Amino acid sequence: MANKVYNFSAGPSVLPEQALKEASAACIDYANSGISILSMSHRSKPIENMFAETEQFLRDLMGIPENYDIVFLGGGCSLLFCMVPMNLLGQNETADYTDTGVWASKALKEAKLFGNVNVACSTKADVYNHIDKNLKLSDNAKYLHITANNTIYGTEWHNFPKPKSGFLVADMSSDFLARKVNVSDFGMIYGGAQKNISCAGVTVSIIRKDLLGKVDRTIPTMLNFQTHIDGKNMFNTPPVFAVYTMNRTLKWLKDMGGVEAIEKINREKAALLYSAIDASKVFVGTAAKEDRSLMNVPFVFKKDVVSDEKNDEMSKDFIEFAKARGLVQIKGHRSVGGFRASIYNAMPIEGVQALVDCMGDYEKKILG
Ligand SMILES: *Cc1c(COP(=O)(O)O)cnc(C)c1O
Repeated sequence: MANKVYNFSAGPSVLPEQALKEASAACIDYANSGISILSMSHRSKPIENMFAETEQFLRDLMGIPENYDIVFLGGGCSLLFCMVPMNLLGQNETADYTDTGVWASKALKEAKLFGNVNVACSTKADVYNHIDKNLKLSDNAKYLHITANNTIYGTEWHNFPKPKSGFLVADMSSDFLARKVNVSDFGMIYGGAQKNISCAGVTVSIIRKDLLGKVDRTIPTMLNFQTHIDGKNMFNTPPVFAVYTMNRTLKWLKDMGGVEAIEKINREKAALLYSAIDASKVFVGTAAKEDRSLMNVPFVFKKDVVSDEKNDEMSKDFIEFAKARGLVQIKGHRSVGGFRASIYNAMPIEGVQALVDCMGDYEKKILG
């Protein structure tokens, strides 16, 4: 590879180089066993220990109290969208859901299969370009569900809402461990790992112990969180390699000073990119300023600089311009258009600076 490549993909996304090196070495020989981690029994001591260590890393980094269990499962965050209400919401109970994006709406669609859903807010009509904090909460909701960071639209809850009754549940797929969160404010935190903490193949669920076992429906064994808690995440064959990649990513995060340290860098990175967008004569951000995400930064061409009919051609041109400098995966989601730079934990500030420089040079190229 001639030049450094910076990957701005929304997911699966950039991971720390150190973690990738360790994970790839483990594919050949795990912990001097002479065996690849891909071929090792999940019930062997080294893997059991690795799972315990991964859980401990998470507890240390996030300050997860003892009265919460941690479950590692395959199936993606999309499977958890149905497991959450299946395990937590009784058939005649109501849950409040905030409709702040496509992932949020997919979560609430699944919840409707298991109980009553009150849509506490929706910004769908505005293509989810902001978060409506004026929530219409029901009186006896079992829980309030939020999507902490809306990956596609680049909006993030900077102050978590308080449930009127019950507990708070958050999908943190795209800002897991990006900023300090008080776990005790939540009944449950869950998400897919492939945005910020590992490769695809594993999800993380952090569940307060007293919340399970309260619904009276029959839950299929594999979809019951209690099965995996009782089985210490080894009820069936777990996604060992994805958990190991998480282990190494969490170790990297611990070594660099933990969540407090990464949050500081994440805020610097976001400020650098947003101020470049705000100063640009060519680009404009799509998300409301007060809700701007620390992780996903969508932006489009200004309409007075690039007309609608020129947009497709010019978008391709900018993507190629960036790619020639090793800045890849900046195409925006089809529902927002334009560009999106995902600047997760493992994206160094040098990568963000390179993108800012590229945007400035592109402005010179087209405006002279
Ligand atoms: C990507 C994403 C999902 C979906 O994750 P899968 O693991 O692909 O099912 C859910 N929620 C959010 C916030 C996401 O960013």
